Amino acid sequence: MQFLNLVGKRIIVRVDFNVPLDSNLNVTDDTRIKESIPTLKYLLNLDGVSLVLLSHLDRPLKKLLPDGTIDVNRFSLKNILPNLTDLLGCEVLFADDCIGEPAETLAKSLKPGQVLLLENTRFHKEEEKGDETFSKKLAGLGEAYINDAFGTAHRAHASTCIIANYFPKNLKAFGFLMKKELASAKRLLVNPDKPFTAIIGGAKVSDKILLLEKMIDSVDNMIIGGGMAYTFFKALGGQVGKSLVEEDRIENAGEILKKAKGKIKLLLPEDSIAANAFTNEAQTMNVDNMFIPDDMMGLDIGPKAIASFTETIASSRSILWNGPMGVFEMPNFSKGTFEIAKAVVAATERGAFSLIGGGDSAAAIHQMHFEDKVSFVSTGGGAMLELLEGKELPGVKSILEG
Ligand code: AMP
Repeated sequence: MQFLNLVGKRIIVRVDFNVPLDSNLNVTDDTRIKESIPTLKYLLNLDGVSLVLLSHLDRPLKKLLPDGTIDVNRFSLKNILPNLTDLLGCEVLFADDCIGEPAETLAKSLKPGQVLLLENTRFHKEEEKGDETFSKKLAGLGEAYINDAFGTAHRAHASTCIIANYFPKNLKAFGFLMKKELASAKRLLVNPDKPFTAIIGGAKVSDKILLLEKMIDSVDNMIIGGGMAYTFFKALGGQVGKSLVEEDRIENAGEILKKAKGKIKLLLPEDSIAANAFTNEAQTMNVDNMFIPDDMMGLDIGPKAIASFTETIASSRSILWNGPMGVFEMPNFSKGTFEIAKAVVAATERGAFSLIGGGDSAAAIHQMHFEDKVSFVSTGGGAMLELLEGKELPGVKSILEG
């Protein structure tokens, strides 16, 4: 971006304003809007530049009203305008559609320093299809294209990927957030400082299987926690009671254990906090993960697991954390996740590089207000996962290609 000649241009910026809203349609977490501000301010400081902002919000076409129409109120980007105006410190114009007459007229009449936000790109089915005609119409709204929407970079959608094909190499670039995300992932993918520890948790083995397989080739230590750990105990012949198990992944889990043997240190949680029901108020007990009673389910890692995980994290120089250690949304099962967050912060303070891979682990870090105490918190769960799995992201590729 800093190397392009953007002076005097009307610039399309694909941002990621896909933020959570409460029932009153107020933004409950503005991290993604905040993270777009450095790019937007940098561009607005260039002579004669005006901005046309594109984003999606949620999945409006998957959540239609009973009469089959889009819930415009709920999914309008108008809902985020007050936050954006505040954070940017200037007025932001709005167009009710991202293509068509009003958007074109408003975009073309922008004066230097003005910002126009267009309505949710996902109001059009062509967005997710990566439709060429739709992409071309979006591209026609500006003279250069900046992609700063890391959270959707793993999708080959019109506004995140195909649109870039309509701009030559010298008129398209990544924004600062995209650059930071890509650089952070690279620090773990290419010659990471050793020892390198991956902490992988969350509900399912199936969601993280590619990450587990990829990481086995580069980490020194792999910590596995959360619901997915019980599929591994099942593979070891353990009794896991009513804990979450993916029967069709037991074989995969066994293969991962076999592959890890003698190559890396793989740590499974020795014990769990098990409950007799999936509620915060359930009766709990500390159990050995090989012998969980039939009527109990593991919902958090136990004290022995916390101690051994913490010790390994403490000696790490590079850390990747993706996925919670338990059902941290329920306070009685959040201790494991929060203790691991503390261990990651402590290692970072001692000089380790720590990357929090978006999604629920990022939510836990935000909940603890630790975002400035780790090296980097990704804004994209799915996109970061795919990047770390070694995939090329379509939104990245289309900027790099001529
Ligand atoms: P993921 O999106 O795959 O990172 O999974 C996150 C979800 O996994 C969270 O909603 C957690 O509540 C859930 N989770 C973590 N540990 C467990 C567990 N032991 N049993 C059931 N669900 C879990």
